[in-house]
Amino acid sequence: MPAREFLSEDDEKLIVDAIERAEKNTTGEIRVHIEFKCKKDPLERAKELFHDLEMNQTETRNGVILYIATDDKKVAIFGDEGISKKVDDHFWQDEIDNLISEFKKGNFEAGIERVVGDIGEKLKIYFPSDGSDPDELGNEITFKDNREIQNDD
Ligand code: CA
Repeated sequence: MPAREFLSEDDEKLIVDAIERAEKNTTGEIRVHIEFKCKKDPLERAKELFHDLEMNQTETRNGVILYIATDDKKVAIFGDEGISKKVDDHFWQDEIDNLISEFKKGNFEAGIERVVGDIGEKLKIYFPSDGSDPDELGNEITFKDNREIQNDD
């Protein structure tokens, strides 16, 4: 499913707002990345993007990427070492399960918004902010049209 069918422009705005809200009380940074294909383990791909998008450059290593491949129907969530040290692995798995269950119902925007909100709550506990910290990474969704990807890429 093409990313632009997956989320309308209005949906996209709602998600960017949700990221902004989620980051309000934490120094943590959240990014949503959407592309078409994923021919490898989605967590590996999420880590690769995390690095490519320079999300590992945050002050306290508390960036989180929510990765979605729409055609191949794969999702992953990867958190940097700062946040990963603090939360149990099952937190990430629970959020992936939430995402998948919402997606199965066709609730793409709502599912992402819910998970972004949950991650924000978690970040707020371990990395609180008084709101004066800089927005280290932009809140816009990153899209990649990788329909031409080769199977072993
Ligand atoms: Ca941000």
